[in-house]
Amino acid sequence: MQTIDERLNLPSASSAERLVNCPGSWALEQGIKELDQTEDAASGDRVHAFLAGDKHVPLDDQEQEMVNQCERITGKLVDAYKAIGKLTDPVCVSEKRVWLFNAGKKVFSGRWDRLYYSGTFGLLIDYKTGRNDVAEADRNWQLLSLAVLASEAYDLNHVIVAIVQPWSKGQFTLAEYEASDLIKASSQLRTAIAKAQTSQERRPGKWCEWCKAKTKCAEFQGNALAVTFYQQGALTNQAILRLLDAKSQINKFYKDLESELKRRLKEDPNAIPGLRLKPGAKTREITSVKEFWKTVSEQFGPDHAEKFMSACEIGIGNAEALIKELECCSWEQATWLLNQWGKSFGWLAEGQKAEQLERV
Ligand code: SF4
Repeated sequence: MQTIDERLNLPSASSAERLVNCPGSWALEQGIKELDQTEDAASGDRVHAFLAGDKHVPLDDQEQEMVNQCERITGKLVDAYKAIGKLTDPVCVSEKRVWLFNAGKKVFSGRWDRLYYSGTFGLLIDYKTGRNDVAEADRNWQLLSLAVLASEAYDLNHVIVAIVQPWSKGQFTLAEYEASDLIKASSQLRTAIAKAQTSQERRPGKWCEWCKAKTKCAEFQGNALAVTFYQQGALTNQAILRLLDAKSQINKFYKDLESELKRRLKEDPNAIPGLRLKPGAKTREITSVKEFWKTVSEQFGPDHAEKFMSACEIGIGNAEALIKELECCSWEQATWLLNQWGKSFGWLAEGQKAEQLERV
């Protein structure tokens, strides 16, 4: 797992977004100890260690399921890029720390979960094991800086980065970086690293979430107080934008508080008067549609296939995966085929979700 020593107390990919957006954060964080690890973070570390090859890490059922899902999605992604000829006998580099140099000196590092590369093409994968929303791959400086590191370490000029988050609805998001994107990002990153050494400029935003300096940062606290004294209609557009940026930090703050209370109650069930740990709700899941159908047809006869199918749902992702496998085609072709067949035979409904706010 990552440690301060391993990073030589230099900036790293996990803080890249903060470094680029708030150059003064680097100086303010110096000397502040790492926060105590939450239960969720410890669980994430176990899953990452297992995925990195340490098969002795003890996992509970949920963690094992997370590992299985990560491997399954990874396999699908690798197969997809093999099928279109981008990955041929790829080399896999797992959990390796790689450095960015300036005038021969180490200035920045990063460690990815998996990199598959062949020739000048790379597929870089980052596993997110939490249930929180995470930045999508195409708006994620951590992944972009890892792509820069991979491109410079292995002479890659075309890198796909993937955030694999099995609990999220889409399960993964992708972003593509060509040579010109990687050169531009490398330059932006080097500028940010240099600026962080001297700048006191601090800009609060969603990148504050993991900043250790929150407790002594006036700019962050000003933002947090604005939430407390919020008055409808009294906020400027920019103030509302800043508050929206703070949303994930506040959510994270409350989740951390909850984890800490659970941990204390596990240690001592009577530690907090008026609060106790109640067992989680029981869950049920059909683990095999095939076996369920077998049971239904044995119990009621085989004439209920239509009723059975109308009780089943298939997601667009799984339908496309099925077409891709049966047709031996690429994801793009499977998407095109699904759209064509669905429209021709009348089983595809198209719609549009409500508008979303997007930074431009
Ligand atoms: S809390 Fe936010 S504004 Fe303050 S130093 Fe950290 S990243 Fe910058």
